[in-house]
Amino acid sequence: MKKCLADFDYNEITNLLKDMGQPKYRGEQLFKDVCSYKSFDEMTTLPKTLREKLKEEYFDKALYIEKYFESKDGTIKFLFKLNDGNLIEGVLMKYKYGNTLCLSTQVGCRMGCEFCASTKDGLVRNMTVGEIATEVYAVNSFLGGNIQKREVTNLVLMGSGEPFDNYSNLIGFLKVIMSDIGLNISARNISLSTCGLVDNIYKFCDEGIPLNLTISLHNPFDEDRKKVMPIAKKYTIKEILDACEAYFKKTKRRYIFEYVLINGENDTEAHVKELTRLLKGKPCHINLIRLNEIKETSLKSVTDKNAYLFMDKLVKNGLSATVRRQIGVDIEGACGQLRRRYIEEEKNEGTSN
Ligand code: SAH
Repeated sequence: MKKCLADFDYNEITNLLKDMGQPKYRGEQLFKDVCSYKSFDEMTTLPKTLREKLKEEYFDKALYIEKYFESKDGTIKFLFKLNDGNLIEGVLMKYKYGNTLCLSTQVGCRMGCEFCASTKDGLVRNMTVGEIATEVYAVNSFLGGNIQKREVTNLVLMGSGEPFDNYSNLIGFLKVIMSDIGLNISARNISLSTCGLVDNIYKFCDEGIPLNLTISLHNPFDEDRKKVMPIAKKYTIKEILDACEAYFKKTKRRYIFEYVLINGENDTEAHVKELTRLLKGKPCHINLIRLNEIKETSLKSVTDKNAYLFMDKLVKNGLSATVRRQIGVDIEGACGQLRRRYIEEEKNEGTSN
């Protein structure tokens, strides 16, 4: 398959054009056009002959918005189609301080967490630098933004996939999206969620990117965590906590734990006690999430009341904890569900024809 222009960073694009006999400023023009989600036909600052040549070898866009669903509260769920036909999801959440886009980093996922829809068919493939970045370009443009007028202000790498399982493309993506010639989104406005790939957390410490590191904890007991998160068989909670401390030492950024509350599984007094023992005094925050029930498992969410009761107990014990606001509930479905439903519907339509 052809490569996409969005896969190149500014220097690479400049060198590519240099090899085609173009002056340096053309690199900046083209990089900015790609970041603005322009098609070849819209890149009118570039000579037509150059665009024709590029068209022969590269895709201008790494993905297209296939469908979108808007919630009553303004949240928009996007289904993107990649150039090879694969589908991925993104969610735009509107807050007072700006617009946050939740991004996917892989088609599918191989982490196998029990409660997560994204992983039910395993990993299809890693997403490229350009595919991850173009989720941002496409939605920014959908909202009427461009490179000068940024409509997407915050990013959360919490969609389908495990970002640290696609490490080099993740780093390439962060460099492109943070580039001051491109959309220039600051690391402070980016959150990354990982199920806890400890070796890559250490590797990430050395990249010098101070973003908001978020760990999917979901249980403070290793043995119970293994039952819902296969990755817990590889790394212990102690190893995760040490890696988080290392990240804190490097970046001075407080880290965050996500904790999906599952009725009767991880919401008892013993869990409050163990979370307190593990996390008290640490520079961290706990984000409690009500389980989004998926049809593939029988796990049930806690009630709203119990989520807040659990939070109160943690806070009383001196921890920093909040319950994640639920938005877009009328369109949402858990992460990865929209893609699965859409693929199933397409299959059914195919067989009924
Ligand atoms: N692989 C990364 C990022 C993707 S999942 C990770 O594991 O962190 C993003 C977050 O959504 C994780 O905390 C994950 O545990 C959570 N999640 C997955 N399925 C969910 C569901 N059904 N309900 C609520 N949260 C879910």
